Amino acid sequence: MPPVPKPTSDKWDLIVIGGGSGAMGVGRRAGQYGKKVVIIEESGRLGGTCVNVGCVPKKLMWHAADMREALASSPEYGFGTADGKPVNGVPEFQWKYFTEKREAYIRRLNGIYDRNVANDKVEYLSGHAELIGNGQVKVTLRNEDGSFQDEGHVISGDQICIATGGRPTQPSDNDIPGASLGIDSDGWFDLREQPKRAAVVGAGYIAVELAGVMNTLGTETHLIIRHDKFLRNFDPIISDTLQDYMGKTGLNVHQKTNVKRVTGEKGGPLTLHLDTGKTLEVDVLLWAIGRRPNTDNLGLEKAGVKTDKKGDIIVNEFQETNVKGVTALGDVAGRALLTPVAIAAGRRLSNRLYGPDHLRGKDHLNYDNIPTVVFSHPTSGTVGLTEPEAREKYGDDKIKIYKSNFVTLYYGMLEHKQPSAYKLVCVGPEEKVVGVHIVGLGSDEIMQGFAVAVKMGATKKDLDDTVAIHPTSAEELVTMK
Ligand code: FAD
Ligand code: NDP
Repeated sequence: MPPVPKPTSDKWDLIVIGGGSGAMGVGRRAGQYGKKVVIIEESGRLGGTCVNVGCVPKKLMWHAADMREALASSPEYGFGTADGKPVNGVPEFQWKYFTEKREAYIRRLNGIYDRNVANDKVEYLSGHAELIGNGQVKVTLRNEDGSFQDEGHVISGDQICIATGGRPTQPSDNDIPGASLGIDSDGWFDLREQPKRAAVVGAGYIAVELAGVMNTLGTETHLIIRHDKFLRNFDPIISDTLQDYMGKTGLNVHQKTNVKRVTGEKGGPLTLHLDTGKTLEVDVLLWAIGRRPNTDNLGLEKAGVKTDKKGDIIVNEFQETNVKGVTALGDVAGRALLTPVAIAAGRRLSNRLYGPDHLRGKDHLNYDNIPTVVFSHPTSGTVGLTEPEAREKYGDDKIKIYKSNFVTLYYGMLEHKQPSAYKLVCVGPEEKVVGVHIVGLGSDEIMQGFAVAVKMGATKKDLDDTVAIHPTSAEELVTMK
């Protein structure tokens, strides 16, 4: 259902600001409990970052790149022409065609979100929301043409939940002259042509994922990192294995390098002047140096809601801010910026506020042992403590590490070998598994089940007692010596 043209009531049980993952979690669950809920989203479409400019379009691009890898290997797997000849080369990737198809799919998802919200009897307003204190929110609605109305509507809620997410950080032209000639991840999804040459600055999830996609799809890709390693906060088995392998597959990693200045024209070829003294000519420069919370014009000061140094909203374990009746969750609260985290925190918040007796007053998200995957090439997954974190926390003598480096069957018979590398971090005489870190084919799908095991407190013996599934990569995790 499209958004309603104006609020149908002045008074609500719950006002949710934002229409992304966290908002859906808290708002829809409260609607299912029969509460009177309104969601306000300013972008003109529901789904937030994940659906529109995050997880979903990114994973589709990853699938495209993955398919290109499979196509490149297909002759070795016996695919050829009908008369038995091998096929030379891989079909060209049609970036524009695929982007349009991807966008059409996302529009369908937006429609599904509209309907889900309506099914849960949650009202959806398209507009900008701002706290004005005393449980009140000013909503400036959008017109159909996308412009905002002059007058705002004031509504009030017993509870207000802020789930406004975040947006990419980009250096200013003052700090790096010409920085604005680059794009961020939102702009990357708008590209209509595959760049022939691209530079990505950053060393986290987005930099590694998008550089990986472009490199695999055949773009000459440069990853510019300011230290010697990317994914520095991950276990070294992941960062080392990936950096080595992605380098071998053509990704140009510029270590200990910063961009000092950018020259050229928007949309045209750019020259990056690096602090190593080198220059780099590219068609696209992508900044992927982190994200910041969406708190501009949100009225936090007016309402007295406190933020930390980074600007993230400060919340306690129940997602409560310092102001009674105002909660915050998801990326805007700055902890584990992941879609399932935002959804889980939201659903649990509604359970606590409006749920059945066994959840009411208690339910909240436990942020320990949150599993996560980087959709790199190959993918990598992690849950729990890294080896350095575990050594720091428990001391070297309490830690036992199990490692396995192998080439999985799929690559075993191919000329081109992709590595797999797994690590278990165990603690104490009972060898409780406090960290699982894996990189290699299928790691994205393998991780979820092992995260359950870690969450349940599995020991190395529990893994050993589990019969392996053969032939898989995952079986390595239950057969490590
Ligand atoms: P959002 O989804 O950002 O939603 C916030 C919404 O609030 C936005 O739609 C915004 O328009 C709206 N809003 C902001 N201010 C106002 C206001 N004042 N009034 C009204 N509306 C407002 N996570 C994963 O788990 N897996 C992945 O694979 C993954 N890939 C990603 C890839 C990229 C490129 C990016 C950028 C992120 C990725 N993430 C991934 C992270 C994930 O997208 C976020 O953690 C998640 O979307 C956070 O949800 P949220 O509800 O907190 O915020
Ligand atoms: P991240 O925080 O993951 O990484 C950004 C990195 O860029 C920093 O860790 C830092 O690494 C480097 N950096 C920071 N400032 C600069 C600078 N000025 N110049 C050069 N490098 C810099 O942010 P992302 O934007 O990649 O992603 C934001 C969040 O979104 C992620 O943390 C993740 O939670 C979520 N996300 C999740 C995904 C998934 O689940 N698969 C995919 C994409 C995003 P260093 O200090 O080593 O230089």
